[in-house]
Amino acid sequence: MLEHLQALPTDPVLGLAAEARADSNPEKVDLTLGVYMDEDGLCPVFAAVREAQQALVAEEQTKVYMPPAGDEAYNTGMRRLLLGGDSRVLAEGRVSTVQTPGGCGALRLGSEVVRAASPGARVWVSDPTWPVHIPLLGSVGLEFATYRYYDPASHDVDFDAMTADLKKARPGDVVLLHGCCHNPCGADLSLAQWAEIARMADLQGFTPMVDIAYQGLGDGLENDAAGLRLLVERLPEVIIAASSSKNMGLYRERTGAVLFVCEDASHAANSTGHALAAARRCYSMPPAHGALIGGRILADTRLESAWRAELEGMCTRINGLRVSLRSALESATGRDYAFIEREKGMFSFLGLSAEQAQRLRREHSVYMLDSSRINVAGVNAGNVEYLAASVAAVLGD
Ligand code: PMP
Repeated sequence: MLEHLQALPTDPVLGLAAEARADSNPEKVDLTLGVYMDEDGLCPVFAAVREAQQALVAEEQTKVYMPPAGDEAYNTGMRRLLLGGDSRVLAEGRVSTVQTPGGCGALRLGSEVVRAASPGARVWVSDPTWPVHIPLLGSVGLEFATYRYYDPASHDVDFDAMTADLKKARPGDVVLLHGCCHNPCGADLSLAQWAEIARMADLQGFTPMVDIAYQGLGDGLENDAAGLRLLVERLPEVIIAASSSKNMGLYRERTGAVLFVCEDASHAANSTGHALAAARRCYSMPPAHGALIGGRILADTRLESAWRAELEGMCTRINGLRVSLRSALESATGRDYAFIEREKGMFSFLGLSAEQAQRLRREHSVYMLDSSRINVAGVNAGNVEYLAASVAAVLGD
């Protein structure tokens, strides 16, 4: 039977990351994957994670299955982190939460619930968006529509084009929004723009689904959730897919949550029921390790403040890298790279052609996607000048 399968092409991002790993040039610069890296090029384990993990291992009595909705301490902590401790919808009991295998699992369960509630739903995705959104949501059987988002000329959000396209979203449709640190472009909505999206959702009856995988890595934990909180405050219904991969560094532990903010508690409970049924069809119970660690951190004031401080350090470092990258590129090329400082989070497009990105790999061992999306967190004091000189070389400056 299996001999009938055709070989599939490798995933373009993972394939490129493997190519970068195999490159033996000591000067190589790997900016492919969306993984935070420190000055030594390592993706560190947070000190709070290490501590919570040690306590967990020392105290763990059983490996019995997790409850279907996951760890309650983690889910409670995530609700507070995403919506704010004083959130009205939390007090009103209008939010239900299911712990998922990473943000991917949250997107998948969220889409399953959308499909159950509105089988003809179209999901509106930004152009561009994280490419994995399409197979992840599409495999549930949902249709897609695209809204224009990023203007390569201004390196900014083209909000007029975005709202012109979203005028066509109907009741029962879902608009997928990046909560912060847009992947791949780094250009985020202003609070006034979030307010306009909330007004349109209210008027037109579409449901926002907010994918928030980088909270705390753009402008701090609270500011990065401000747009999401505004939607939740003003609308009867918002779906949230959250990840602890980046902001807790729990990537391989597959830790995330899907939240359903609904008009009332019974709709929230029904949404959870459908999410749990979908989980049962796919993988049954969620993984334990990451959520038990995250839950311990978020339930312990001291550990939480240590985690927050370390995350703030990463955020400050990324924003500092944006300043030094801008300056190095401007000196090497004489061009304007102010947009790199304006953008948020781990990603930016450098504005190169696919051919230039390929030459960077071939001739300079500098690895970025063909779209010229870079992981800013892969830049460091030791490679920034080489990176800028390589970019200048392929630009012909
Ligand atoms: N959404 C976006 C935009 C992402 O970039 C990612 C991770 N690259 C995710 C969701 C999901 O992350 P994970 O499943 O690793 O938690």
